[in-house]
Amino acid sequence: MRILVVDVSVDDRRSIIDILKSIDHFEVTPAGSAQEAYDLLGIGKETIPQIQLDLIVLDMELSPPGGLAVCRIIKESNHLKDIPIIILAGDQGVDSLASAFSLGAIDYVRKPVEKMDLLTRVHSGLRLKEEMDIRKAREQELLEVTKKLASANQILRRMAFLDGLTGIANRRFFDEIFQKEWRRAARSQSTIALILIDIDFFKSFNDRYGHQAGDDCLKQVAKALESSLKRPGDHAIRYGGEEFAVLLAEEISLEGTRKVAETLRANVEALGLTHDGNPVHGHVTISVGVALARPEEGLSPQSLVTQADKALYEAKHQGRNRIVIASGLSTSF
Ligand code: GH3
Ligand code: MG
Ligand code: MG
Repeated sequence: MRILVVDVSVDDRRSIIDILKSIDHFEVTPAGSAQEAYDLLGIGKETIPQIQLDLIVLDMELSPPGGLAVCRIIKESNHLKDIPIIILAGDQGVDSLASAFSLGAIDYVRKPVEKMDLLTRVHSGLRLKEEMDIRKAREQELLEVTKKLASANQILRRMAFLDGLTGIANRRFFDEIFQKEWRRAARSQSTIALILIDIDFFKSFNDRYGHQAGDDCLKQVAKALESSLKRPGDHAIRYGGEEFAVLLAEEISLEGTRKVAETLRANVEALGLTHDGNPVHGHVTISVGVALARPEEGLSPQSLVTQADKALYEAKHQGRNRIVIASGLSTSF
């Protein structure tokens, strides 16, 4: 335990130090003036000294600036404010006691100093410091645990929105972002486009090449879809099974949407994944249904899904590996 004793009187300092040193584990550092105390405590210095103090015994009757000013400066210093201060007060110092307590001093000892009086107060001051240190360490621990929890939470949240197999966004993400983007588009009177994608003859792919190969195929298709998208408002989602969705949440024309859909289709075909069960092409292809809307009152997000789904059905019906734009969409987009 390290105690700083600040007292201008050599005799008083010596007798206090003798009393404190009678306890084995007390290390005592003396200071004979406010300036000496400031130097030891690093007050007014750029670099804070590594002195580890547990308690300060401070004489009220220090020569100017006086004990009260020293007390205030210590309590205003971030690195010192938690060190308990015990005031030493002779007859004159007693008047300043109330001010010293209001500045944060925890106790006082009358001069001339009585051994047991000083030791009792020093002990309880040190116990207080110890409890404060433990509490601070716990608070720090708690802060670190809270930080770790927050980042784990963030990771979990992110994971909850990712598809475990392909690593792209999942249906849950779609449900959330679609509603949000729909409302945003309605507010800003901008467009929102939905492209639904389904792998052609995928049941037969699984039957021929096995479920594992089917999974690998899904991963590659997901990657091809995602890497085809350029704008921050574009999202590729695994919609379920061998179905994917692409949401284009930024203003886009019908022609622009058609181009994106065509790029998606072409990029999947360009993977060149052999699929003998695909009777027309002999490799993996997708069918694509496209819908575009400018959300307004009375129009529901579900209606866009229905339109895209119908268009996808039509793409299947027309022979697969193609894109179909939902019927009834005007080219004014
Ligand atoms: P269509 O061209 O009309 O879309 O025919 P299809 O065979 O692709 O359609 P169908 O709906 O009959 O089959 C979809 C298949 O997708 C059936 C199912 O086994 C497979 N599938 C769905 N999810 C997964 C998955 O996570 N992994 C694998 N390997 N296969 C899946
Ligand atoms: Mg399907
Ligand atoms: Mg399919």
